[in-house]
Amino acid sequence: MKTVDKDAKILVAGGGGFIGGHLVASLRKQGYKYIRSVDRKPFGQWYQRFSDVDNRVLDLQELDDCREASNGCDVVFNLAADMGGMGFIENNKALCMLSVLINTHLLLAARDVGVQRFFYASSACVYAGYKQRETDIPALKEEDAYPADPEDGYGWEKLFSERMCRHFREDFGIETYPVRFHNVYGPFGTWDGGREKAPAAICRKVILAKNSGNHEIEIWGDGLQTRSFMYIDDCVEGIQKIVDASIVEPINLGSAEMVSINQLVDITEEIAGIKLERKYKLDAPKGVRGRSSDNALIQKKLGWEPSTTLRDGIARTYKWIEEEIRQGAASL
Ligand code: NAD
Repeated sequence: MKTVDKDAKILVAGGGGFIGGHLVASLRKQGYKYIRSVDRKPFGQWYQRFSDVDNRVLDLQELDDCREASNGCDVVFNLAADMGGMGFIENNKALCMLSVLINTHLLLAARDVGVQRFFYASSACVYAGYKQRETDIPALKEEDAYPADPEDGYGWEKLFSERMCRHFREDFGIETYPVRFHNVYGPFGTWDGGREKAPAAICRKVILAKNSGNHEIEIWGDGLQTRSFMYIDDCVEGIQKIVDASIVEPINLGSAEMVSINQLVDITEEIAGIKLERKYKLDAPKGVRGRSSDNALIQKKLGWEPSTTLRDGIARTYKWIEEEIRQGAASL
């Protein structure tokens, strides 16, 4: 166990984004003193930003910017990527693959400036498509990533970058932790504009249907496709536990509570207190047919796994998006 010291100098790459913003918030709260948060977006677009953090706008696809970002740091958390929900990754494969520049340049810079520990946010999209063709499939174990058949574009980049982490550890001695997130959701995330993921999109659609009185909802696919969704607090806790435990082989970080998209809509409707007429858009991007996280390895290594129920997590997310929509309407 090598808990990250409270005096360690920490870089959170992608700190203006959803998970990076929550990680910075949590590290601050725990008393970490030297946090640098870096993102490409202008400050006004960061989801969370704190005045006592060293915030910088840099483009981490550029090697020089990676050097500036990681200079003086002991630990790097790489959460920066050009990404979004299925609607984004199915239609922007080249952009997704260009995130390879971020992880590659960050690793090179980290090696050169003497970073010792490097976290990499991988994804369940690395898992082989041929293992995910049915709705009721066994949860995905870490070995199910090979023989490789990841999500085209985004998943290939993640799988390649995982291996890059492994070889930097083996050849250059930086301790790297590639972790496979399974659908993360919660407040302070993207909920509209095309990059949002299913939980936020469904909350938004239900809220707008309720507000407008037009009680219909469009669902991508036939609603039978299955997933598991991890609440953001579990994700941030898991990231830190994995780093503290120095787990260097790829590991799942996800919820084992598998639901269909229809069940996700049921839960959201129940929170909203309404029933909507469902319109299924069968030609919309929908990803694999079934997917959830096998948590045997994380249980074995940490005696822990994400435990927030989908009902509780969606209730909190729904409330936050409802308030965002209310404030947006109020400012018009
Ligand atoms: P996000 O889009 O909210 O955050 C990513 C951040 O990276 C954004 O703020 C973006 O501006 C920044 N970024 C992109 N290109 C950059 C660049 N060149 N230089 C600097 N910053 C740049 O996404 P997120 O949900 O917080 O995801 C964080 C990480 O977790 C990503 O690597 C993502 O692929 C991975 N992941 C997320 C999920 C999920 O469900 N959210 C699932 C699996 C994996």
